[in-house]
Amino acid sequence: MDISQQEIEQIVRRVLTGMDTRPPQQAAAGAPRKAQDAPATAACTDGVFDDVDAAVEAAWKAQQVWRGYKIADRQIVIGAIRACARAHVEEWCRKIVEETGMGRYEDKVEKHLATINLTPGPECLTTEAKSGDAGLMLEEYAPFGVIAAITPTTNPTETIINNTISMISGGNTVVFNVHPRAKRVSAECLQALNRAMVEAGAPANLITMTREPTMDNVDRLAANPKVRMMVGTGGMGMVNALLRSGKKCIGAGAGNPPVIVDATADIELAAKKIYEGASFDNNILCFAEKEAFVEAPVYDAFLHCIRREGAYLLNAQQTEQLVKLCLRQGKNGGWDANKDWVGQDACRILSAIGVNAPADCRLAVCEVNASHPFVLAEQMMPILPIVKVGSFEEAVEDALVAEHGNRHTSSIFSRDVKHMTEFGRVIETTIFVKNSATKAGVGIGGEGHCTMTIAGPTGEGITCARSFCRRRRCMLADGGLRIV
Ligand code: NAD
Repeated sequence: MDISQQEIEQIVRRVLTGMDTRPPQQAAAGAPRKAQDAPATAACTDGVFDDVDAAVEAAWKAQQVWRGYKIADRQIVIGAIRACARAHVEEWCRKIVEETGMGRYEDKVEKHLATINLTPGPECLTTEAKSGDAGLMLEEYAPFGVIAAITPTTNPTETIINNTISMISGGNTVVFNVHPRAKRVSAECLQALNRAMVEAGAPANLITMTREPTMDNVDRLAANPKVRMMVGTGGMGMVNALLRSGKKCIGAGAGNPPVIVDATADIELAAKKIYEGASFDNNILCFAEKEAFVEAPVYDAFLHCIRREGAYLLNAQQTEQLVKLCLRQGKNGGWDANKDWVGQDACRILSAIGVNAPADCRLAVCEVNASHPFVLAEQMMPILPIVKVGSFEEAVEDALVAEHGNRHTSSIFSRDVKHMTEFGRVIETTIFVKNSATKAGVGIGGEGHCTMTIAGPTGEGITCARSFCRRRRCMLADGGLRIV
């Protein structure tokens, strides 16, 4: 049997580190790993641990080996992650709906496929070189080490797949603290990915987690010196807690994306795309349209078109019934979503107030003013408040207030380049979409790569492998390698 130099190096590395005791021919042939081949670690199953410090220790040991893998070998492992996730998409989406009780199966499938296909691997870790009279400079992306990643209930396995590809591409390993409401499907996903990575030649435990995710575990991750970076995807309470941890931190927090429809817009397109975006996965996505500001001259036409798309128009009394049902008065006089109704189907929400909408209705809309609780709360339900505004300037002012300075996502439907530019400048969101659903901003129906961790508060933006790496410089002084 012919074995390439690269395969021999892989096998030697695995045997030397005690992580693969299969005979070299078997390992090279990709023979299935037996259970007893896995490293003997107490209370661990394919990366799921009982104790958080044990999960960090295993990820740390794995990182010592993984950081030496060549880019080509990392690509093989990333390919195995994509193949494994593709094979499980339908199963995981079904299980997410069952466990979290939120969202729409078919939209989750679309989100998963975007994550699997459009999250870049190590190819985005490009080297910068500068050659001059004083020598040759190289700057490269190096691993941080072990990363602790906190994942949300709204995209549980999508975030695990996305973070795993992005973080391990850079030579890191990851300890996840998943959302307790999605812990079973998250563990299944993590275990399947771990098995696929080992089969593709990676060390065991590139990604780990604790069986029972807790807030205390997040504190212990922050306190563990072997964790070099904290990454949080979720609400602002969690992101702010991570920012206080004293560790290098990447925070991907809440949004409340406003959309402006100005008087020059293609109204049919605006209604179609806003209906599609605001109902996608029942609006649990941080980047989904949460409130619309529509200029008076096109207001009636917009309302007509969005109803034609299938939206149910609530009257004033029904709107107030839904406020009582779906929102709770929060601290500091604000409004919080009632979690019982987050991510529920529009028909289910409507039937709770005695409205029998057609079965294919995906979105309820209501006519309110700019200070209405549905405008100001990040409610994450398929209920879209629509505000009639007297001018473009008023729309921008209202949108700024509704966005709460999250600087997350916003969009505009317009044919006026000045309006597009002005709103984009003023709103300062990480994602700014023109004339399409906001999901186009993460590659779902738009150009560019996909992420499930949109890091607005800490500025990394649409994260990818580069976001989770350190920049390191290597300087060869006084000629040497130069050819001119
Ligand atoms: P959440 O904040 O309730 O939970 C997120 C994670 O943080 C969970 O794992 C949870 O256990 C943990 N957590 C919560 N409070 C914590 C604290 N004080 N200390 C440590 N950990 C804590 O959010 P969720 O309901 O799962 O997700 C919805 C929220 O996440 C929305 O606000 C949404 O906008 C946001 N989100 C943002 C992005 C993004 O990329 N920016 C992506 C998805 C979701």
